[in-house]
Amino acid sequence: MEERVSIIGGGTAGMICAKALAGRGIDAKVYEQKMRVGRPVHASGILSLKGLATLGIRHERAVTNTLNGANIHAGGRELRIRSDNTVAAVLDRTLLNEVCMDEAVAAGADVETRKRIGASEIESMRMQGLIAGADGAVSTVARHFSMGQIARYSLTYKAEYNVSAPDPGVVDLFFDNAAYKGLFAWICPNAKDILEIGVGIDSSHGNGKLAFERFIRTKEVADQINGQTPLSEGASMIPMCRRERIFDEENGVVLIGDAAGQVKATTGGGIIFGGNAALIAADAIEGRMREGHMLSEYERIFMERYGLDMRLHAFVNRFYSSMQPQHLGAMITLMKVFGAEGFFGRYGDMDLPSLMIKRFFLRSLAD
Ligand SMILES: Cc1cc2nc3c(=O)[nH]c(=O)nc-3n(C[C@H](O)[C@H](O)[C@H](O)COP(=O)(O)OP(=O)(O)OC[C@H]3O[C@@H](n4cnc5c(N)ncnc54)[C@H](O)[C@@H]3O)c2cc1C
Repeated sequence: MEERVSIIGGGTAGMICAKALAGRGIDAKVYEQKMRVGRPVHASGILSLKGLATLGIRHERAVTNTLNGANIHAGGRELRIRSDNTVAAVLDRTLLNEVCMDEAVAAGADVETRKRIGASEIESMRMQGLIAGADGAVSTVARHFSMGQIARYSLTYKAEYNVSAPDPGVVDLFFDNAAYKGLFAWICPNAKDILEIGVGIDSSHGNGKLAFERFIRTKEVADQINGQTPLSEGASMIPMCRRERIFDEENGVVLIGDAAGQVKATTGGGIIFGGNAALIAADAIEGRMREGHMLSEYERIFMERYGLDMRLHAFVNRFYSSMQPQHLGAMITLMKVFGAEGFFGRYGDMDLPSLMIKRFFLRSLAD
């Protein structure tokens, strides 16, 4: 009899899953290796308001800024996208993880910190019930159950400076495959007077820290940070595609969030897809425990809802990652001519490109 769900990893995916399970009266316990959940986190938190609403968490406590636009830079050109409304929030990732933990605990989940789970603990958890591996990009759970590899990673490095942004509602993204192949560099106003500078680069093409050092020497950054020492800095990694297998029927295991590679390949954002995967996984786990359903439902439903968009993100990422800087610049010029700034400002969707395409083609009906 499967009586308990052991959730390895106390990031957003693990906590959202724990909250959903505990809220239905299922015995759910989260194991987190860090002393305190969410400390430190070397990741950013730009999330669409629409995506945040799907997670069902009271995220407001973690919001430090809001955004209504982005400047996309490539090959010396710039695309300026502005929306009439606030489209995204910048969240303090430590606070977001704490909010998710508080809600999981309030729902009845148990959380144990300072507990790194290894092979022997995983085996005893398997005897007690089901396992959710929410243990991030380098997943011990995935390795233990031979659930395959994640074929591509980006290495990141970011730092925060005590600087106010010229336009606090706008994030700047810099695409340059000679310098940050596979992802991009960014300047984001995290809060009033806090500017985040970061870089992500494909792991087979370079090192996050070196790419970061190059980026902060560029005029765009150097003029703003003016030789300041960062308030905080750190390296991390982002899985850029799905893991080969995300469930194991026989052993009663699911992978969620970064452990499963549920990340938008265009931006490296994984909180919305990972959080929604956690909710779907909780449904599948409950279905197996109470009705004897298959865990494969988890993958089926996730792919039905998000498969097309995951593929579209991967396609766009492959497309821009293969272009020379000057060709990207020429593409931006062309996009401006064809009205891309207005299009993205009006129909843009940070999470679901398929919705953006639908909105575009249905606009004549909507207008
Ligand atoms: C620089 C950077 C910027 C980003 N910006 C954004 C963004 O703007 N928007 C967005 O949506 N996403 C962003 N992301 C991605 C986002 O951070 C991840 O998708 C998200 O954190 C995944 O959540 P998770 O819970 O799956 O994994 P994690 O947040 O990685 O949590 C996994 C947890 O498991 C714990 N753990 C690991 N192994 C064990 C073990 N053996 N035993 C016990 N505990 C263990 C870890 O300590 C960790 O707390 C960014 C990432 C980076 C690196």
